[in-house]
Amino acid sequence: MINIKRTSTPKTLAETNRKFKAAIADMSVQDAYAFYKKHRGTYQYNTTATKKHFKKMNKERCSFCTRFIQDFDDEMTVEHIRLKKDDPQKIFQWSNLLCACRTCNTKRSVQPHYPDKYLDPAKIADIERYFCYKADGKVTANSNLRACEREKAKYMIKLYRLNRKGLVCKRREFMRNLMDDDAFYETLKNMDESSQNIIFLSVFTYYKKHGAASYNK
Ligand SMILES: [Zn+2]
Repeated sequence: MINIKRTSTPKTLAETNRKFKAAIADMSVQDAYAFYKKHRGTYQYNTTATKKHFKKMNKERCSFCTRFIQDFDDEMTVEHIRLKKDDPQKIFQWSNLLCACRTCNTKRSVQPHYPDKYLDPAKIADIERYFCYKADGKVTANSNLRACEREKAKYMIKLYRLNRKGLVCKRREFMRNLMDDDAFYETLKNMDESSQNIIFLSVFTYYKKHGAASYNK
C-alpha cells in the first residue's frame, strides 16, 4: 500500500451525503441500512463526479494492491472503510470511501472486520513503512515495526488477500524486470506515477528506496 492524497469532497457527493443523513436521522442502524438498500437508485456514491476524483487521487490505481486499473471508469469499485451495514451514516462520507480494483473489493467482503486494525492509506502518510516486498512476489509486514503496528499490516494483507496467487505471480514478474533490467528501471524512474507501465506503484516505490538487495531477504 502507498499513501494517497485525498482530494476535496466531490460537490455532488456532499449534497447526497447531506440529504441521506437527513433522511435517516431518526433511524436505527438497521433501519438506516434497509432504507439505503431500498433507495440506492436515488442515493448514489459511484457517480461520474466521484470517479473523476478517484482517478486523480489514486492515479488510476487500486488503494490496496496498488495495481494500475485498466479502463478505470468502468473497472474501479468503491470501497467503504466502515462497512455500509455497520455504519450507514458514513455511506456517502468522502473520507470513508476508497477506490479499489474489483478483486481487492470482493476479497474483503468475506473477511471479519476490525476497524481499529485498519490502515487507511489516505490518513497514514508513511504507510509504506508497514510493508516489505520479497523476491518471491509476496508482501509481508515489516519486521522492524512495533508489535501492534505489525498486527495492523498483517491484518490489511489478510483483509484484502494481498498475497493471492495471481497477484503474487504478477508482482514477482514485475520485480524480476526491475532487478534484471536496468534499462527498464531507468525508464520507469522518469515516468509519471500515473503511468500504467509502473504496474505496482508500491513495489516500485519500495525498490527505489531499498534497492534490489532488500527483495532477497
Ligand atoms: Zn486491488
